Formats: sequence, C-alpha cells, structure tokens
Amino acid sequence: METGFEYTIGIVGHPTTPDVAWSDQQLTALKALGINTLQLAIAWAWRPAGEALNLEHLDEPHHVQEWHKRVTQARKFGFRTLAHFGLPVGPVADVTTCILDPLVRDGYADRLHRFFLDFPEVDDVMIYTYDQLAWLCSEFGDCPRCHDIPLHERLIPFLEAMVDAVRSAKPSARLWWEPWELSAGQTFTIVDRIRPDNFGLILHHTIAEVQFVNTTDLWFRNLARLAQGRGIPVIGEGFFGGSGEDISPLTHLACPRLIHQELDALHHATGVVGVKEYYGLVPAHFSVNTAMFGAYVLHPEAGLGALLEVVAAPYGSAARAKLLEAWELTAQAMEFFPWDASWAIRRIFEKPLPVTLQHIPIASWMTPSWQANRRGFYMVTDEPKQHPWLREDVAMRARFAAARFEQAAAALDGAIADSAMPDDVRKQKTQVELAARVSRSLADSLSAQLH
Ligand SMILES: [Zn+2]
Repeated sequence: METGFEYTIGIVGHPTTPDVAWSDQQLTALKALGINTLQLAIAWAWRPAGEALNLEHLDEPHHVQEWHKRVTQARKFGFRTLAHFGLPVGPVADVTTCILDPLVRDGYADRLHRFFLDFPEVDDVMIYTYDQLAWLCSEFGDCPRCHDIPLHERLIPFLEAMVDAVRSAKPSARLWWEPWELSAGQTFTIVDRIRPDNFGLILHHTIAEVQFVNTTDLWFRNLARLAQGRGIPVIGEGFFGGSGEDISPLTHLACPRLIHQELDALHHATGVVGVKEYYGLVPAHFSVNTAMFGAYVLHPEAGLGALLEVVAAPYGSAARAKLLEAWELTAQAMEFFPWDASWAIRRIFEKPLPVTLQHIPIASWMTPSWQANRRGFYMVTDEPKQHPWLREDVAMRARFAAARFEQAAAALDGAIADSAMPDDVRKQKTQVELAARVSRSLADSLSAQLH
C-alpha cells in the first residue's frame, strides 16, 4: 500500500495489553491501517508477555523460534521487519558494561553481526544505548576508562562499530539509533560528527517524552534538520494507536484532531521519512484515533476537515455533528490538561478516584536529558517545595480540561442512539467521563491545599 511515509512502523500489542499472537487476524488489521513495517517485539522494560528485550534474550532457543515465526508471518503479509534492542546491558558474562571496554564493544559487535546471519530476512535493527536495562558510564563517575571523557566522544566510535558489524553481515541493513536520555546538545553533536552510512535516527516527537499534545518540539526539528544535512534519515515516533504512555489506560479517548496534528507536523518536518507507533497497537482497541492514522497515511494532503469526515462516516450521518463536536472538545480538553506540571502527573489516570494530592508529584532521573532539557518542559522535576501559584495554575487548567471533557461526554451521550456503532461511542463516552472526573478531582484536590 502506498502511504505518505516511506516507513510506517507498528508494534503488535502494547505494554498494558500485550496481545502478541501475531495471528493472521492481527496482522491483517495492521496492514489495513497502513502499517508497512513491524517491530519484532514490544521491547518494554518489564518485558510484557516475557518477550525478548535485548540481544542476550536471543540466547534462549524459544525466543529464536518465536522470532523466526514472526519474521515468516510478517513476510507473508508483505511487512518489512525491525529488530529492537537496548545495549549495553549488564552484566555481560564477567565484564563490565562500559562501552570503552573493548570486550563490551566487540561482544556487541559480534552479537549484532551474528543476529543478521541468524535472521537474514530481518531488514533493519534499532538500538538505544541509555534507558531500560541499557546504561552508560558518566564522565563524572568513577569508571577509570570513562572518567573525564564526554558521552558523545565515547558514543560516536561505539555506534560506528555497531554499524560496521551490521553491514558486514547484511550490506543493505540500516542501524537506527534512538538517543534516549541524552541531552539536546549531545544528540546534535553526535549527529553532526558521526559517519552517516547505514545509519538512521528514530526520535520521539518531543524530548519531553510523554507530552502527546506538544508535538515536534524545537529539539526534534533541529535534530531532524541537522540529520538531513548529513544524509541521515529520521523516523518520528508518536502515539497513534489510541492508547499511549501518557494516556494509558485510556484506549478510546477520541481526539482525532490531535492525531492529525502529530502526523502532519512529522510529515512536514525537514528530514522525516517515516513514523513509528511508540507504545503499540491492539486491533481490539482500534477506534477513532487509529482511523485518523489510517486515513492520514493514505491521503496526507487531504486536510483535517476532509479526513475527519472519513473518520466519522462509519458512524452514520445522523451522529456526525455530535461526534465531531465531542472529538474537538476532547482534543481541547487534552490541550488544556496540565501535562507539563510533572512527568508523573499523567499517572493519576491509573489511580482510583478521588485524586488526593498534597503536592504535584516530583519526577526526575540522573540522565543528561533530565538534568538539562526536560527541566524546560516540566514545571516540577525534583522540587518538593511548590509555590501556591504553581499549584493554583495546575488546578485552574485541570478545571478547564474537566469542563471540556464533560461537554464532550454530553455530546457523545447524545450521539449514541443515532450512531451506526453505538457500542464504540459508548466506550468513548465512558472514557471521556473518567477523564472528566480525574481532571475535576485533581483541580479540587489541589485547590483544597492552596490556603
Ligand atoms: Zn566506563
């Protein structure tokens, strides 16, 4: 299927619903959505469904058998495939995970080389070097090799060695790198200097990581433009599957205008050749947001209004006006919601109601991105003392979001009886009501602490 992107990468299942059957039915649904490349595992830290996460897991024969089955199944439906690993992971045998240790560097080069000999039909590989179980020495730490040597100076030769290992086994393969947890400056410097052959970047659409509404930030646009100037292709990651790390466990929160916004920003960003679903895809959850994804990748230049009509059509003309109203109100509610209060604020959607917060929850880690750029995206990182004006601001914005979620629920309620798909609209309504209750409860809880 022709799409507006060279790569549309999907994941079978997602961390909160790891339905990883790779059945004909699941793959047919992903194909119909316009996905042309499949990631071979969910690749999430807590290993949903016990899937292989790192190269080391492929030492176990049952994972090897499962991946061969998946590759065969993907090819049957005409998908390309992408392996996804974190490295360096420690401890590897009895050596450290330090990338300046020649045993670590050569060990991973050997593993990647052998991977493509064992799985010659896999097209590409994506690696990340800093997150989940992969970690890098700090130049301010006590590693005798890495002390005083900046991360970018260590990563460039390491990544080039991994590229060499891949292409010596499969000359057509590309090594895509996701620079999780690095600072903007580190990523710019690496992309400015690294050898571009057989190398690509897969980038989350914002360095803030879980701000669905804040798409293609200045870091993303600068890095994609730099990469294009060096001949390095970029794939942008976002949430297209209905659920996502920032709105989990909600799967039917219908805000197709925001999906369009995300895809359109990626499509028009300099240097972007593809999109990748970040969290995962579960066909049983497919609804309005995934419908917008499918409509957009087929006709990226059609415009928001025309694509919303395509998405609304299966619900029938009698429900159309109320649904469009509800979806726009939900999109506005998402934009008013104070996601930027803290990385952890979104977790209130996972908690039982009512929300009771004394303070905005703090969240920050000792990584370059957190100690540098993410402070520019979150009002609270590791400051337990918070000014009442800050808490008041979050409460007020949560109230604006709540009002719009409530209006959206009312519009959906009015659309159920007129809709050709009443069960789907009922699910949308239930979830938007939950979002409304959480938002209002957050506002009330913080307001109660103000004076
Ligand atoms: Zn080290």
